[in-house]
Amino acid sequence: MDAVLAAVRDGRARTGRIVVLTGAGVSAESGIPTFRGKEGYWTVGAREYHPQELATHAAFERMPWDVWAWYLYRRGVCRGAEPNAGHRALVALAASERFALVTQNVDGLHIRAGSPRASTYEIHGDIELARCADECTPTRFPIPAAVPDLQKGEPVSAEARAALVCPQCGAMARPHVLWFDESYDEDRFHLDTVRRVASEAALLVVAGTSAQTNLPWQVVSLAGRAGAVIVDVNTEDNPFGDLAHAVARTSAATALPLIVDTLADI
Ligand code: NAD
Ligand code: ZN
Repeated sequence: MDAVLAAVRDGRARTGRIVVLTGAGVSAESGIPTFRGKEGYWTVGAREYHPQELATHAAFERMPWDVWAWYLYRRGVCRGAEPNAGHRALVALAASERFALVTQNVDGLHIRAGSPRASTYEIHGDIELARCADECTPTRFPIPAAVPDLQKGEPVSAEARAALVCPQCGAMARPHVLWFDESYDEDRFHLDTVRRVASEAALLVVAGTSAQTNLPWQVVSLAGRAGAVIVDVNTEDNPFGDLAHAVARTSAATALPLIVDTLADI
């Protein structure tokens, strides 16, 4: 950790933003499975799906209620989870105007820990929200209370199906998440804002992400081009580690509180 904390001090001393980019690994210690472990798999009929196959618009087109069942199960897991020491530590940084938190997580744990929405960019959506599957409007709405969380293998009931509709046009609703075969935009996923923030970074801390999605790559490369110090926190080697100035091969709940202490009074 010493090299990591020295890099953090170096980044802190420079002019520019302090940016933290989090992925599923940050919520792993809250009991929410990442997409990579065995727990990520989901069975539909006789077939086992990898999350990267199910979290797609193509899968939703083919079997919308199976995809909804997966999200309503995962929403229950997220609701049952509590923020951990990593989420909690990051809250203190929001007092600084230099700080921005960019998260790939849809579990809402940063917000529940107390990170303010104004400086928290949820670039892959929010598992508590839905929007029109026909995209008649970009507006998001809370999943109606009549739609319960599901157990593994439990189908979406007729009542829940009837409630999962767009309030504007009556078309089917869809989860407000970014699927692997979809593109980012500013309206729903803060694309331009996050790119700007990254290109103003003096320090970028990447935590718990396996570098499989596009905007996180842009964040790391824009911050790198801006001359930011880059630190990677991950229990495993990953492509962002190769681009970082210092790596902490330890858990996010262990490393983030130490990093935040080092950033005191930014
Ligand atoms: P990922 O599942 O692909 O990778 C998780 C990364 O976290 C891995 O590199 C792993 O080594 C690391 N990791 C695991 N435990 C850790 C720990 N305790 N501390 C630090 N690192 C740890 O996740 P991803 O890169 O975030 O991308 C998958 C996409 O799936 C995300 O974009 C997100 O939208 C979605 N997703 C969200 C959640 C959530 O909201 N909690 C969970 C799973 C997937
Ligand atoms: Zn609609």
